[in-house]
Amino acid sequence: MPKSIDTITINSNIEMLPLVGSTLAKAFHGISVRTVADLLFYFPTRYMDYRKTVEIGAAVEGETITIIGKIKSISSSFGFRGRMPYTSAVIEDGTGKIQAIWFNQSYIGKQLPIGADVILSGKVGRYKQLQLTNPAYELIDAEVAKGNNLHTGRLVPIYRRGDLLPLRTMRRLIRSCLHTADELDDYIPKKVAQSQQLMSITEAVEILHFPETEEQINAARLRIAVDDILPQQIAIELKKEVSLGKSGFAIPTNVARLKKFLATLPFQLTPSQKRAVWDIFQDFESGKTMNRLLQGDVGSGKTIVALLSSLQIAQAGLQTALLAPTEILAKQHFETFQTLLENEFDAHHKPITIALYTRTFAIINGKEVTKTELQRQLALGVIAICIGTHALLQGTIEFKNLALVIIDEQHRFGVGQRSFLLVDEVIKESRSAKKQPHLLSMSATPIPRTLAMSIYADLDVSTLSHVPTGRKPIVTTIVPESQREHAYAYIRTEVSQGHQAFIVTPRVEDTDKSEVRSVKKEFERLQKIVFPKLRLGLLYGKMKGTDKDSIMADLAAGKLDILVATSVIEIGIDIPLATAIIIEGSERFGLAQLHQLRGRIGRNSFESRCFLFTTEDSHQETKRLQALSKTNDGFALAALDLEERGFGDLFGKQQSGFMFRFPHFITVKALTIARDIAQIIHGSVNKKVKKSRLYTLAQEYLTDIHNE
Ligand code: ADP
Ligand code: MG
Repeated sequence: MPKSIDTITINSNIEMLPLVGSTLAKAFHGISVRTVADLLFYFPTRYMDYRKTVEIGAAVEGETITIIGKIKSISSSFGFRGRMPYTSAVIEDGTGKIQAIWFNQSYIGKQLPIGADVILSGKVGRYKQLQLTNPAYELIDAEVAKGNNLHTGRLVPIYRRGDLLPLRTMRRLIRSCLHTADELDDYIPKKVAQSQQLMSITEAVEILHFPETEEQINAARLRIAVDDILPQQIAIELKKEVSLGKSGFAIPTNVARLKKFLATLPFQLTPSQKRAVWDIFQDFESGKTMNRLLQGDVGSGKTIVALLSSLQIAQAGLQTALLAPTEILAKQHFETFQTLLENEFDAHHKPITIALYTRTFAIINGKEVTKTELQRQLALGVIAICIGTHALLQGTIEFKNLALVIIDEQHRFGVGQRSFLLVDEVIKESRSAKKQPHLLSMSATPIPRTLAMSIYADLDVSTLSHVPTGRKPIVTTIVPESQREHAYAYIRTEVSQGHQAFIVTPRVEDTDKSEVRSVKKEFERLQKIVFPKLRLGLLYGKMKGTDKDSIMADLAAGKLDILVATSVIEIGIDIPLATAIIIEGSERFGLAQLHQLRGRIGRNSFESRCFLFTTEDSHQETKRLQALSKTNDGFALAALDLEERGFGDLFGKQQSGFMFRFPHFITVKALTIARDIAQIIHGSVNKKVKKSRLYTLAQEYLTDIHNE
């Protein structure tokens, strides 16, 4: 049966389209385009602006223009003596003529016969005379005469993977099945869409492929972004319902006891730490469920705030769960808590029971136990503070009276709504509980406030704006290869004074395996050739939990001088005597990551230095590295990072934990509208809506989280 465009629906396989043979079909499958609907949602990444049409006589060098004229002459020349084959043509209208030249496209001569009426779009250059180089072209046929240009004279869509999917074919294909966009299921009721001034999904899809103005593009992207966010906002509404009607735990503050404990600490709280603790305790007292983000730059001292909060909870006879993104960090927190809370008592005048629960460890008060035993003690309420990783979220872990969930480095878990859902995950086994635990998320990567607010309406924020006193700013230098030895010499001097250093190997793009290989090789080289007399340790992500732990313990105990590591040390690690860090291949790391890595040093009153090595000296100019060497201000760097990578990256799979299909379309406005619409839709009693695909997707989000 010959392929016909008339029988195509949005569910048709891509192979059903005229023009799509096996090669093209394969290319489409490679980008996960299997059906016509997939193709419709394969949006251009950008547009060429060919809207400015001028008479040939008015063409000006340097401008991007469209001209309409007749082919006066056209000829192809085969490349010889290393020159590229090209086709050149002369086009004229009543006002003048201009030359067009296409390299490596010898078939063009056949498509544009002498005398044909054509439209050309491109940038005007000059080679002896005015000339268009590789202009977009289109014969004036009936469609073009109606204004339905595909390749010229308009905002022309550019799609990714032009190497496998020729742009001209893409445009023709999409145009040919664009009428099926009528069949798209619109999850936003018409009235609701209108009230938010959103266009229909059909219109948005049509516009994104063939827009007329930038305003149209923005409005269409907004609509798509809202659709993208909506299922997850509905998921939040569903979750809210579960926790609705549950109050928080009301916990009075015992000021005298708090003061007594503070006096036992080796340092005084900074003013902003005091403020944050105060904010949190106020929330505890209120009886309303707390949802607070504690943001503070690397090294600003967030852990102690977490500790004071959980102490408060323990003294009230309730439980805290503290989640850390890595085992190393969980273990470190466990040790800090054990040391600092050694002489504290719970509500029953018993020492406070602290536990560690990760993939590798199940420890209660320093004693290894079985996981089952630990779980039993949690359910009985014996354990007051349970520190752990993702492992705490898996299986059937039950708390007797969980009153506080703390999520450290919460950006590792996701942007906000994710932590909201996580909390629910922690308490899923105690759903019947009448009370909702308080939530404290902590992060060194500040989420812009507007963003945080739109993701999660009732989020409160405390900020640690002071660094503990007595710290010296870290000196950061970008080191040319020729001065590598200086950095090594610096480390030798530091070590001779009892200090420690980190050497971070570059991120290797391809596989974990090659990353492990490269860190091992560098470790051997450094130990044998560069620092034969020093004690070096090696750390990478794929190591066994217990091995990692013993390396970290040796480092903390001063049994190692230098830790050679992959970026696993990026988060949270606190080695107060470390005063130097070398980052190899630093141009390969993101800005936030570099700042975090650098934050491993400078946690004391000594001068600390960060050395950035680059794969090639030319990488020294990298904007990120320049910025890093100029400031230690994490918030300023975060703002720059956001600017460089764009807002959309925050919503990538890794950052948000959610699969957004079009993260780069997401804006604060889209978030706000999606939230409002979710509330409207969910608030309506319409049963039909609640059975719709939107709700299926929302449920999928929830299950995804449960299954991770
Ligand atoms: P981060 O905010 O990066 O999690 P940490 O909580 O790990 O920072 O604290 C960094 C270091 O600063 C730790 O060694 C901690 O003991 C120390 N510290 C925290 N608060 C203070 C303070 N007020 N004065 C001095 N040192 C502090
Ligand atoms: Mg920390």
